[in-house]
Amino acid sequence: MGFDVAKVREEFPILSRQVHGKPLVYLDSAASCQKPWTVIEAMSRVMESSYSNVHRGLHSLANETTEAYEAARRSVAKLIHAGSVDEIVFTKGATDAINLVAASFGQRLVEGDEIILSVMEHHANIVPWHFLRQAKGVVLKFVPVSDEGELDMDAYRALFSPRTRLVSLSHMSNVLGTVNPAAEIVAIAHAHSVPVLLDGCQSIVHEIVDVQALDVDFYVFSGHKLYGPTGIGVLYGKAEMLATMPPYQGGGEMIASVALDTITYADPPHRFEAGTPAIIETIGLGAAVDWLMAQDRDAIAAHEHALYERAYEAVRGINGLRVIGTAPGKGAVLSFTIDGVHAHDLAQILDRYGVAVRAGTHCAEPLMTRFGVTSSARASFGLYNTVEEVDLFVDALIRAQTFFA
Ligand code: PMP
Repeated sequence: MGFDVAKVREEFPILSRQVHGKPLVYLDSAASCQKPWTVIEAMSRVMESSYSNVHRGLHSLANETTEAYEAARRSVAKLIHAGSVDEIVFTKGATDAINLVAASFGQRLVEGDEIILSVMEHHANIVPWHFLRQAKGVVLKFVPVSDEGELDMDAYRALFSPRTRLVSLSHMSNVLGTVNPAAEIVAIAHAHSVPVLLDGCQSIVHEIVDVQALDVDFYVFSGHKLYGPTGIGVLYGKAEMLATMPPYQGGGEMIASVALDTITYADPPHRFEAGTPAIIETIGLGAAVDWLMAQDRDAIAAHEHALYERAYEAVRGINGLRVIGTAPGKGAVLSFTIDGVHAHDLAQILDRYGVAVRAGTHCAEPLMTRFGVTSSARASFGLYNTVEEVDLFVDALIRAQTFFA
């Protein structure tokens, strides 16, 4: 099928804007992606033509909107090769999805039970587990990370004990770009009868994910990093796993019946979707997923990889620049520090050239500590970025550096 980046850029209206009189070079897709027309239009279309609350009405608008909402669930199931649409729970985002698992699955954990995490996790995959540590005395164990930014798989194997109850790891690091060996991670955990949650926030964007082939128990991601809107994300849970989990929020839509002294709950996924959902955002996510599935994803992955390689080769020669995360096969995320230059200052200077990069801890403070830095700058590449933009970024970086010299 191939991939025509110039053509694809025309589908993203924001990419034609300027910043400080310069063409926008958006290299912050790992934080949030820009949106194609198809997503923008799907969201306004529902408000213009069929908007209603979902599931509860018998009128035409309710039926049409419910159909569009549930079509998004089918699209997501298809995207990740879920065995059933009922394994797709809509959440506010990846953070919300992990909190859901911690609050619901976490109810079965008792003092001394163990959860395996890693040093490279986003705070979204650390803090909800800290809640269980604080509330119940659950023990958190962390897989260390090598200097290149790879998980230490021997250490991972050695962390299992008869008290291990869950493994929760990122599939791809938002800072290092490392793609962790998901199938191996799951196989090792399952050999100990331990379920696995994969944080797919970054990986879902860059690679084809097959939850059944991975045999993973939970997989989470956010819509806004997948060319969809904010306020919507996904928890995939194996049917047999979700079936054993109690609801974690109560309200409308998640019950089978309510009386004054008894209550029964709906089956998954509705058991976990209390209240009026993010209807418009869900429909927007469905449009993003349909759009992405229609693209040549292998060609996109090759394109993004080529952008990363070009950027990496160009910046590694810059005096005092250190790239954080050099694992083989890593994704299109370039984190770096420059001696004597604070990442925030760097990001602000780059912004003067129209170049948007992120700077800070990237919500991964333990990882920053591991690499002995307090912050880093990060350029991340999306399918709409071009070779010319990589070169503009590198030029701006060299100019920014002379600014500090
Ligand atoms: N995990 C990873 C790996 C991420 O990159 C992010 C977003 N930066 C999150 C979790 C949290 O996603 P959200 O803020 O959309 O819930």
